[in-house]
Amino acid sequence: MHAGVIAVQGDVAEHAAAVRNAAAAHDAPAEVVAVRDAGLVPDCDVLLVPGGESTTISRLIRREGIAGEIREHVARGKPVLATCAGLIVCSRDANDDRVETLGVVDVAVDRNAFGRQKDSFETELPVAGLDDPFHAVFIRAPAIDEVGPEVETLASVDGRPVAVRDGPVVATAFHPELTADPRIHDLAFFPENEVVA
Ligand code: GLN
Repeated sequence: MHAGVIAVQGDVAEHAAAVRNAAAAHDAPAEVVAVRDAGLVPDCDVLLVPGGESTTISRLIRREGIAGEIREHVARGKPVLATCAGLIVCSRDANDDRVETLGVVDVAVDRNAFGRQKDSFETELPVAGLDDPFHAVFIRAPAIDEVGPEVETLASVDGRPVAVRDGPVVATAFHPELTADPRIHDLAFFPENEVVA
């Protein structure tokens, strides 16, 4: 499996480790490439869009010509895992003109929804498709305000969706790469398989 981590910002090494773990459990060794320039995404089977600062990420991926390649990847039905700022960048509407969204996940987000209440928090989160709760780490996390008709909500906190699936894209408001648990990467990249991790 050829995996690309959009590497303009964020937890690149952690995502690379998590995708390697998830893939190893399926006997599909992952080769991971850090994507900072155009031309790499078309060769990737799966993509990760990490957290960071959504305004910066959206500006850099556009400037480098990566934004259109991510859209094309999704249009071809290839899997993406977008986390935190990655969710904001991939959304349809970030409710903030400084973020040029990709519109590959049909949700509207509130960029710092949880951050306004509490900068970061951790919780044992029940997630659809996982047998046991996932230890979810939220850092200045967005919340999802509106969910399109084709979007499946996988998890919620206080009644607000924090993990969704829209076709080939799984997006989370939390940071699944910060725990040693590869089950969210597994859900995103091996949706047809039973979770084995
Ligand atoms: N709230 C941040 C933003 O708007 C995202 C925070 C994060 O990725 N941890 O970009």
